[in-house]
Amino acid sequence: MPAAPFDYEAPATLADALDLLRERGEDARPLAGGQSLVPLLTLRLARPRLVVDLDRLHELRAVRRTPGALEVGALVRHRALERGEGLLALCPLLQEAAALIGNARVRALGTVGGSVAHADPAAELPAVLRALDGAVVLRSARGERVVDAGDFFVGMLTTALAPGELLTAVRLPLPSPGAGFAVEEFSRRAGDFAVVAAVAVVELDGGAVARARVALAGVGPVPARLDRLEAALRGERLESGAIRRAVAERPLEIDPEGDIHASAEYRRHLAAVLTARALERAAEAAGRAIV
Ligand SMILES: Cc1cc2nc3c(=O)[nH]c(=O)nc-3n(C[C@H](O)[C@H](O)[C@H](O)COP(=O)(O)OP(=O)(O)OC[C@H]3O[C@@H](n4cnc5c(N)ncnc54)[C@H](O)[C@@H]3O)c2cc1C
Repeated sequence: MPAAPFDYEAPATLADALDLLRERGEDARPLAGGQSLVPLLTLRLARPRLVVDLDRLHELRAVRRTPGALEVGALVRHRALERGEGLLALCPLLQEAAALIGNARVRALGTVGGSVAHADPAAELPAVLRALDGAVVLRSARGERVVDAGDFFVGMLTTALAPGELLTAVRLPLPSPGAGFAVEEFSRRAGDFAVVAAVAVVELDGGAVARARVALAGVGPVPARLDRLEAALRGERLESGAIRRAVAERPLEIDPEGDIHASAEYRRHLAAVLTARALERAAEAAGRAIV
């Protein structure tokens, strides 16, 4: 089915793009890599009157190091993350997560901002943002605001973005240099979205866990953080099996629903297995970094 008719603009500056979005409000939809929006248009699940192509906004391709954080422009493509180009190498978690997104074509075109704004519950990058306690930078003709990832994802494919706003960058606080990272996921076929994905970040202090963070995708409408498990792991010495025991001893604070891809029970099972695997691998990496 062809898309419903729409107007198309490709503004040359961010100011022009924000003016267009302000003028046209809910009738306008930004276009980044098109990997999610184009299927929505052709299926007529989205029927904007105006598509605002962001491709000429080169300022949204910048990656900056700020004190303690990395700011990644909205138009940086998954492929650049996967390759760890330039400053992106400072956050190896991005490399590991991006390599799991779709296939080579999707990674060549899809963007950080598109993935985070689209907010698919099974997507890797929103979970990475949650695991790192990241934030998003939102700009409109009225100015800029910064929203924590925990407040940005509000429901399935729904975020705190208001009409007229563009996501211009994500801010990722960089964990301590010895931190270990891991992403573990299960998908039915190579290139599919994950059924469940687990992102873990572990920082050690003298062989004990100083801080462990876990975010899950695919277990609810928004990426979930496992606060109770994270608190239980603090101070734990990581002898063999300690993480698996900690995960097995307490039900994970998630409430997944079943769908055509997996039952609720299966998602819960996957969440526990993948959480333990991701934490173990992240702890091992942190241990190696300390040695
Ligand atoms: C076959 C296939 C497999 C895939 N597998 C995965 C996977 O395993 N994991 C995964 O995470 N993703 C997967 N994706 C989705 C892919 O990551 C997309 O790149 C991503 O969801 C959207 O990014 P995009 O740049 O293409 O955005 P677009 O499709 O252009 O836009 C997506 C949505 O975000 C809005 N938007 C885009 N940029 C901005 C912005 N800067 N500010 C505000 N709103 C904006 C658009 O208006 C639209 O609503 C897959 C896609 C395909 C086609």
